[in-house]
Amino acid sequence: MNDYEIVIGLETHIELNTKTKIFCACKASSWNEAPNTNICPVCAGLPGVLPVLNREVVFKGARLAAAMHAEINPRSVFDRKNYFYPDLPKGYQITQFYEPIGKGGYVDLELADGGTRHVRINRLHLEEDAGKTKLEAGMRLLDYNRCGVPLVEMVTEPDLRSADEAAQYLTQLRQLLRWIGVSEADMEKGHLRCDANVSVRLAGSEKLGTKTEIKNVNSIDSVRQAINIEAKRQIEALEAGKKIESFTLDWDADTGKLRKMRSKETEADYRYFGEPDLLPVILTEAEVQGILTALPEMPLARKARFVSEYRLSAYDADILTSERNLSDYFEETVKTYGGEAKTVSNWIMNDLMRLMNSQGKDASGLLLRPQDLAEIIKLVDAGKVNVATAKTLLEKVETSGKKAAEIVTSEGLGLVSDEGLLRQKIEEVLAEAPGEVAAFKAGKESLVGWFLGQVMRKMGGKADPKRSREILLELLK
Ligand code: ADP
Ligand code: ZN
Ligand code: MG
Repeated sequence: MNDYEIVIGLETHIELNTKTKIFCACKASSWNEAPNTNICPVCAGLPGVLPVLNREVVFKGARLAAAMHAEINPRSVFDRKNYFYPDLPKGYQITQFYEPIGKGGYVDLELADGGTRHVRINRLHLEEDAGKTKLEAGMRLLDYNRCGVPLVEMVTEPDLRSADEAAQYLTQLRQLLRWIGVSEADMEKGHLRCDANVSVRLAGSEKLGTKTEIKNVNSIDSVRQAINIEAKRQIEALEAGKKIESFTLDWDADTGKLRKMRSKETEADYRYFGEPDLLPVILTEAEVQGILTALPEMPLARKARFVSEYRLSAYDADILTSERNLSDYFEETVKTYGGEAKTVSNWIMNDLMRLMNSQGKDASGLLLRPQDLAEIIKLVDAGKVNVATAKTLLEKVETSGKKAAEIVTSEGLGLVSDEGLLRQKIEEVLAEAPGEVAAFKAGKESLVGWFLGQVMRKMGGKADPKRSREILLELLK
């Protein structure tokens, strides 16, 4: 069998998280709302109405273009893409074809083997979404709530070389979208949808093979599976001396199978022409500059900085920069804490993330602020509470909104370093264990830990371990 290379280009549709739709005042987000309750004459495509462009869509689209290193087009234009389908009541989709908002651009993927893959963006444009259809009881039902929801369509060059790279592209894209705040990027809710174009060619060949297009792959796992299945099918066909035909495949998530849908339409079928009801979209130089300077530090740059500035492992830095909120939280805690960044990283990765999970909140939504976490870590460092207590403090601060020190005092959670009391308890322990005392004196020094355990047990875990140890050794002499 010959050696083949897989070639993939991805087309993604990204729902922008604006308040309202792209050309009317309906809410942009109506997930799980009753069908056809979030529509108006404009987005339902009634005759005689005019679209009004939502500028927030333009700014968010341009922000995404900038984050993808694309050039922001200061003058972009909407076009009509004409086709008939029941989910498109107007009979055309308003999109950008000839002059899209973004030109060029790329992402560098971090691959599992440590290498990178440079993926060029072929186009990035604004458009409106269509409605949804579903089959039920032998009928095709239509829901127009999604009509007019703002989308960015982003298309890569055929630069990806495996199903894993395609999955990595989507993972990084999803992270980036949330990071710059332009989309919730929840694939289950259709905020990020993907069509995968797949071809194979003999390894070493420069010429692209004939591709097929897989539609409807709406989870990262499905993208990986679908690409692998289709690439295998193509390789087997070529090995059997057959030709690859260009067609569209539909991914069925329930069965994990691909189904041939139709042969592809061509550009000419859509009869694109400039949208006569909308003016060109103009961004002034100052607006473009504003968009560029407002971009935050990007995830990979921040990750690299966390490694160099805070001496974190790549593993820690990767998790801490998985979301922008979380990475901000980390840095603020380090600043207030002033001690080892690695200590903060450990607290966040173990305990804070568990708290986030149990509360169903992201870092920015927690009542426990970075100052609170820093205060709790300092209490441990100063020997005022033990680690177990500190862990419960996280939750107590989160659910009560009180300060940690206040809770320690009011609930008596502090470590006991009262000299008289510690001495008394330690004396009791020694008196109750004459055998162990004798063994210790005969040289079995490892018993210190056992004695300390007894002291802790007597004091509900709250004896100051450092001071207890000192007194214990003194009394054992
Ligand atoms: P179409 O004519 O089908 O619209 P385009 O050239 O617009 O094709 O590309 C659509 C997507 O398919 C892009 O993401 C592109 O990178 C990808 N693509 C194009 N040719 C190939 C190929 N031979 N193998 C894999 N992907 C391809
Ligand atoms: Zn509307
Ligand atoms: Mg095309």
